[in-house]
Amino acid sequence: MSGGEALAQSFQEWLGLVQDRLTAGAKSSGAWIACGPVAGSRLIGGAHRRALDARAPRLGGTCSGDRQAIPRRKPVSPAAPASGVAPSAAASRVLGNDMDAGYHRLSIMNTLGGTMTGKAPKPAIITCAPTGAIHTPTMSPALPVTPEEIAEASLAAAGAGAAIVHLHVRDPEDGHPVQDAGLFKEVIAAVKDKSEVIINLTTGGSPHMSVDERIAPAVQLAPELASLNMGSMNFGLFPMLTRFPDLEHDWERRHLENKDIVFKNTYADIERILKLCGDQGTRFEFECYDTAHLYNLANMLDRGLVRPPLFIQTVLGLFGGTGADLEDLAHLRRTALRLFGNDFEWSVVGAGAAQLRLGSIALSLGGNARVGLEDSLWDGPGKLAESNAAQVRRIAEMARLLHRDVATPDETRRRLDLRDSVGK
Ligand SMILES: [Zn+2]
Repeated sequence: MSGGEALAQSFQEWLGLVQDRLTAGAKSSGAWIACGPVAGSRLIGGAHRRALDARAPRLGGTCSGDRQAIPRRKPVSPAAPASGVAPSAAASRVLGNDMDAGYHRLSIMNTLGGTMTGKAPKPAIITCAPTGAIHTPTMSPALPVTPEEIAEASLAAAGAGAAIVHLHVRDPEDGHPVQDAGLFKEVIAAVKDKSEVIINLTTGGSPHMSVDERIAPAVQLAPELASLNMGSMNFGLFPMLTRFPDLEHDWERRHLENKDIVFKNTYADIERILKLCGDQGTRFEFECYDTAHLYNLANMLDRGLVRPPLFIQTVLGLFGGTGADLEDLAHLRRTALRLFGNDFEWSVVGAGAAQLRLGSIALSLGGNARVGLEDSLWDGPGKLAESNAAQVRRIAEMARLLHRDVATPDETRRRLDLRDSVGK
C-alpha cells in the first residue's frame, strides 16, 4: 500500500468513527446526565450508568458514598445551563429529584476537538521517541544507539516539529537498553545546547529492568517531564522474532524471546515515582496501555497525588496491552473524556504499522500524537523509516492537512504546565 493509500484508509476509518458518533449524538440529543446525591444517574442504565457513578465525584456530587470526593468543577445549575440550552422535557422527567444536584451535558463537540463548534482545535503536540527499549539494532540501521546518535535524532525530530523528545539510552557498544544516568546526561546536554525541545526521560526503561534501576536517571536528573506507566502488564516481544529471525547480537534474541516478562508498575511503584520525581517539579507523561490504567490514574487524581492538566499517552498495539483497532482507540478516548473531562491533553501512540493510522485519527479528533522509532520502525508496509525526523515530518504534514498547527515547545510547556514554562 502506498503512503497515499494508507492515508486514504485512515480517513475512511475516521469518517466511520465520526458517523458513529453523530448517530450516537442524535440518539442522545437533549440528554442530561444527573449526578444525584444518593445513587447517581437515573437517566441511562447499564454501562453508562456505571460510568456515571464513576464520574460523579468529579462533577461535585456525592454518589461515591463514603469516598472522599474532590470537587474540581462547579456543578452546572439546572436554572442556567452552561450551554444555554434547557434540559428537554423528557430529560427533566427522567431526572426527577436528581435535578437539584447538578448535571453535565455530554457533547459530541468535545470529542471532535472543537471542529464542530467553530473554534479552531489547539495546535498538535508532537512527541518523538527516538530509540526506546523494544526494537534492536539489527532491525533497522536508522535506530539511534550512541548518545551522539540519540542527540542528533532528537535535534532533527525537533527541527521537523516535535515539541517533546521521549528519551531512552543504549549501550554504545552493542545497543542493548540501559538506564545509565551518565549517558542520559550526555544526550540531554547535547540537545539542550541547540534546542528548546522538551526533554522527557523514561521511567519505564526496559521491562527487563528493576523498578529501582528504571527510575534512577529521572530521580538524579530531574527532567521537566518523565514517563510514568500506569499499571503492570504482560509484555510480549516474541512475535517480532518471526519478522526478524536473524539477529546480530546474542542479547537481541534473549530480549525478544522471553515469554516470562511482567512489566511491573504496582501502585507502590507508581506512588514512589510520583513522590520522588514530582517533588522535584517533574511532570508526567502518563502512559496508559489499557482502560484499567486510566482508572488507576483517576484514582490517583481523586487522592490528590497528581494534578491536572494530565498528559495522557494512550498506547495501542503492543502485545500485552490494548490492540490497535479503531474501536480500541475510541473506547480509550471515551473513557478518558468521561473520567477526566477537560483536565487532560490526549496523545496517542500506535505501535508498528498502526503509528500513522492511529496518530492521524487522534489528530482528527483534536488530540496529539507520538511517533518515533521506539514505537514503530516503519514508513509504510515493508518500508523502514529512514529516520525519526521522517516520521515527525509525516505526522506534522498530517496535522497541517487537517488544518492543525504544530505546537511549539513553549506552547506545549504552557499547556502541560511544565516547570520551565515561560513566566513561571
Ligand atoms: Zn519509552
